[in-house]
Amino acid sequence: STPQKVAMITGANKGIGRATAEQFATLGMTVLVGARDMRRGEETAAALRAAGGDAHAVTLDVTDPATVREAARWIEERFGHLDVLVNNAGITGSGQVSPEDAYDQVPSAIDLDLVRGVFETNVFGVIVVINAMLPLLRRSPAPRIVNVSSHAGSLTLTSDPNGPFAALLPSAAYTPSKTALNALTVQYANELRKDGILVNAAAPGYVDTDSNNHTGHLTPAQGAAVVVRLATLGVDGPTAGFLSEDGPLPW
Ligand code: NDP
Repeated sequence: STPQKVAMITGANKGIGRATAEQFATLGMTVLVGARDMRRGEETAAALRAAGGDAHAVTLDVTDPATVREAARWIEERFGHLDVLVNNAGITGSGQVSPEDAYDQVPSAIDLDLVRGVFETNVFGVIVVINAMLPLLRRSPAPRIVNVSSHAGSLTLTSDPNGPFAALLPSAAYTPSKTALNALTVQYANELRKDGILVNAAAPGYVDTDSNNHTGHLTPAQGAAVVVRLATLGVDGPTAGFLSEDGPLPW
């Protein structure tokens, strides 16, 4: 029988990351539930096990390289390799739907520390995690990396004055962080293409989670669908792609 695939998801204790973990477990993968708070990671892993899945909590704060190194060391010791890495952990940098802070990402008035914080998690954290996990991914027969991006990361969509994205609240930290994540996705995909490692960016759509105070219209399971699809691509699957569940998106 084929050995179980081992999949690591960052920020898997809630929202889209947790829904991704649930779907991986249903597919029979060994799911590593990354969480910066071990207690909440363990709660999620226990719920997955109670539903019949194979899940383990792993302490991982993407802004704390020591926790990322320790997570990689633990995966190496326990499994010897990694098949799937989902870089899901992300922050908006503000509670974008409450009246007080709705305009805190106006470009001309933005606090640079807010921008730094968002990039630290959404962009630099992804570099830290991928680079720590790559030696483990290289030992998989079919490694896949999925970066959880956003429609908001699309310069084509957001620069269209007549499109729906131009009318959204100003987002001078979050939106550029996802554009940078898309650019990184292409850079990693180009480097790793020759090694058969497929690297793609997923746009989950507007999903009901804490990150938007539950204003999204999709369920976390619906948002996770494209993430799961890109994590389970066959050998002829795309790399350097930016996709939603409805298909490829313009950069
Ligand atoms: P949630 O706020 O529900 O979940 C975010 C997860 O990321 C949490 O588990 C959170 O942990 C974790 N996280 C945050 N910072 C760190 C960190 N430094 N290290 C490790 N984990 C961290 O948000 P969503 O599920 O909505 O978001 C998941 C991803 O989907 C994000 O990248 C987001 O940008 C993206 N996305 C979401 C959309 C939506 O409509 N919801 C739309 C487009 C993209 P903790 O619980 O400890 O805070």
